[in-house]
Amino acid sequence: MPMMDTPLLRVRALCKDFPYRGFWGQSIRVLDGISMEVHSGEIRAIVGESGSGKTTLARCCLRLIEPSGGTVEFDGQDLALLNPGALRAKRREFQMVFQDPFASLNPAMTVEEILREPLQIHNIGTREFQDRRIRELMNDVSLNESLIKRRPAQLSGGQQQRVGIARGLALRPRLLVADEPVSALDVSVQAQILNLLANLKKRYGLTLILISHSLYAVHYLCTTISVMYQGRIIEEAPAATFFKGPRHPYSRILLDAMPVLDLTKPNPTGTLKTADAPVLRVRQGCAFHPRCPQAFAICRDRVPLPAEINPGERVACFLYG
Ligand code: SF4
Repeated sequence: MPMMDTPLLRVRALCKDFPYRGFWGQSIRVLDGISMEVHSGEIRAIVGESGSGKTTLARCCLRLIEPSGGTVEFDGQDLALLNPGALRAKRREFQMVFQDPFASLNPAMTVEEILREPLQIHNIGTREFQDRRIRELMNDVSLNESLIKRRPAQLSGGQQQRVGIARGLALRPRLLVADEPVSALDVSVQAQILNLLANLKKRYGLTLILISHSLYAVHYLCTTISVMYQGRIIEEAPAATFFKGPRHPYSRILLDAMPVLDLTKPNPTGTLKTADAPVLRVRQGCAFHPRCPQAFAICRDRVPLPAEINPGERVACFLYG
């Protein structure tokens, strides 16, 4: 039996290698020894630039792809030890909302069919029960019932993402992982979808993991932040601590690049020049050293390991011992 303080999700030394296209026998390490714990009720933001491994981490955690090494435990249970039937049953408890709502929805299905599908796959309830649940889900994500017979192409981007979220909630999961849930949407719709996720978190008692390339998209929602860089978590901290002043040089650049809404203050988006530099895999030393304004000799030779500098605050940087 899991103990009371068991994290809902515990990841240890997770690695994922993908074969290099065109280079037989060679692979690239996309996740490199990720360890993290997500507790019930948390809203964990996993932030990093494109190619940092965020989506691969989410997919490995939910066993949508097989990790190359390490373990993933959900509620104290190692997912790799479950047989296919037990893993399928367990999937009810963790679901994913995908980045591109249109691509993630079957274009041939109506909203009703899309929301009924997970209930049917898991043999949940009678047809009447499912009808009620579909209407309840549409209400939960503020989708007008008049849209129930529409297909994804007949919906706006925001409505498509609401359907994606409703489908993710259909089985009443304990953990919902949203992969860049607003990046494909108009700016005017992004705040609505993020507010919806925050409300649903309360109503469903969810634990949320939000994957984002932008701190701005998650800054007012998350309780904890993990920053990824080239397949590693380089900083992890409670959101309140992080936004007062992140420790890692890369996190500081990310925060400086975050747009500010206070028009009386200068907008520091100009500091993006470092964050925008081309991302090449660094094979030796700290992965950030070619771009780091504070790099010193040891950074080129050795990889800094995450160290706890305060309770709940871990940083992988030689500036912190
Ligand atoms: Fe910069 Fe060195 Fe810290 Fe890496 S370890 S972030 S190069 S100071």
